[in-house]
Amino acid sequence: MSAAVIPAVIPVVRLKSGREKSLKRRHPWVFSGAIDPPRQEPGTGDTVELRSADGAPLALAAWSPASQIRARVWSFDHRVKIGAEFFRSRIASALAMREAMPVARNTNAMRLVHGESDGLPGLIVDRYADVLVAQFLSAGAESWRAAILDALAELTGCTAIFERSDAEVRQLEGLAPRTGFVRGASDAGRVAIHEHGLQFRVDVAAGQKTGFFLDQRENRQRVRALAAGRDVLDGFCYTGGFALAALAGGANSVVALDSSAPALEIARENLCANPFDASRVHFEIADVFAHLRKLRDRAARFDMIVLDPPKFAPTAAQAENAARAYKDINLLALKLLAPGGLLATFSCSGGVSAEFFQKVVAGAAIDAGVDARVIERFGAGPDHPVALNFPEGEYLKGLLIVRAW
Ligand code: SAH
Repeated sequence: MSAAVIPAVIPVVRLKSGREKSLKRRHPWVFSGAIDPPRQEPGTGDTVELRSADGAPLALAAWSPASQIRARVWSFDHRVKIGAEFFRSRIASALAMREAMPVARNTNAMRLVHGESDGLPGLIVDRYADVLVAQFLSAGAESWRAAILDALAELTGCTAIFERSDAEVRQLEGLAPRTGFVRGASDAGRVAIHEHGLQFRVDVAAGQKTGFFLDQRENRQRVRALAAGRDVLDGFCYTGGFALAALAGGANSVVALDSSAPALEIARENLCANPFDASRVHFEIADVFAHLRKLRDRAARFDMIVLDPPKFAPTAAQAENAARAYKDINLLALKLLAPGGLLATFSCSGGVSAEFFQKVVAGAAIDAGVDARVIERFGAGPDHPVALNFPEGEYLKGLLIVRAW
């Protein structure tokens, strides 16, 4: 069916007997195995009414025939109308929640819509100053794209919207990648933002994810508060978020590593955009796995290490392989840490739970022969809420570890 046309009759899809439990707990996903295959397949992204095997209406959802997640719930109230006004109202509510957050006073860059946790499965919207970056990651979000873009433009007042629908998960939904300005056009290859008084440049077109790791904002602030007088190593530094935060906090020196040349180029621009003594920072293109070994062989020592690697395990199936990678870098980092030194170590893998991550880091400490304690735990910032009925939304976890004297 063509996008965003509301049919007179909404197709009904029944679940298999006994498979309505997660919907009743308001979990927004229905997997293909729970569905009684409909005689007539609804169109991609179409709104369907989900019913239990005995015919009780449960929710309105977007149909996604290519994905194992066959339906994603728009509303648990089956009487609402899923149309432009519905999306406008959900977006307005997501924006109102952000405006009320204290963090809104400390930055002009924020996640405005966080998918399922804002009641909008498959939709991510980040704001960088006056530019919005939107990702349509599910068949349902894709089919309401025009209405969503209109509502975003109207409600935020942003005239430029860049689409970054190039995340790999789109393949699972049978959707081709799409990127480019979809509203307005900013000639700026880089958008200038500020975060807790620090200036950053964001490459919305070619940067990773939507251009910046907004989820780490408050954790960068924590590192800043703890960095004074320390020799810091920022592994996986991207455009220098933690490195600059450490400098702002009075770090003695910072070594920042990343394997991406374009990321390091922006990191250097970011350094220039802030009033820091550039001689205290050394950005280096390097594979962190190999470079940590080199530093170990040189018996290097740091008072603070940040490890914020990419997603090693998008799903639980890759957790064991990911565990090996996490253990490797954490083991090496713990060995490089001076007594009393701090390790801020993160995992953004959806497939690795906080509990499992802590076990892996504990194993790394044993093998490193290091006595270490957890003194704080990290998560994503408040603009990345986790709906209580959607624990999958909690992907970022981190530990602040101190090496005992
Ligand atoms: N801490 C950053 C975000 C890190 S994202 C911030 O606050 O902005 C993860 C980074 O790891 C990416 O920049 C990616 O280029 C880099 N990366 C991935 N694999 C790597 C490897 N093996 N060695 C070094 N960097 C790597």
